[in-house]
Amino acid sequence: MSIEILTRLNPRISQIDNIGISTAGGITSSDIAAACAGIDKTGELIILAKICGYRDVHEPLFYRMYREAIDLAIKGNWKVGERGEDRIRSVLQLAIYESVTQLVCPSCKGTKQNPANPTKSCIPCNGIGKWRMTDEQKAAVVGISKQAWSKTWQYRYDDMLLLLDVYEYKAKRKILRRLK
Ligand SMILES: [Zn+2]
Repeated sequence: MSIEILTRLNPRISQIDNIGISTAGGITSSDIAAACAGIDKTGELIILAKICGYRDVHEPLFYRMYREAIDLAIKGNWKVGERGEDRIRSVLQLAIYESVTQLVCPSCKGTKQNPANPTKSCIPCNGIGKWRMTDEQKAAVVGISKQAWSKTWQYRYDDMLLLLDVYEYKAKRKILRRLK
């Protein structure tokens, strides 16, 4: 089981298996819990969502991250307007969704190659093998114009993704050290 967790945590190996990491495989939550013992709760929730595909951890993860998103807003002196908190909530939900869901690109099936020409990158996913929302879709979900998204919210969204990445990185580092 340790091997399987290691495999899923290591992006280079999951690239080789070509199936992406969209399925939970044989890993149970108790395997992850054992591997995560002692790591930060936020990091554990990210790992559970990402590796086990658990949807019910999105909400607790959201509440933990919301406080941090508000901190970002205060420190960055964000001008958020009337519906500011709603916007922060929606953008954070998007960031969490993008960070923890591993939806395989329907065009290349996760291979990252252009189906018509395997020497070229897949166009819809830009060669990352994952399905991603477009900027237009993100703006629509948040309820703002594409211009407002690109000008104001894109970088705030990126800051939230970065925070999530840091938690994920720290959690993975601890787990890998423990499993080696
Ligand atoms: Zn693709």
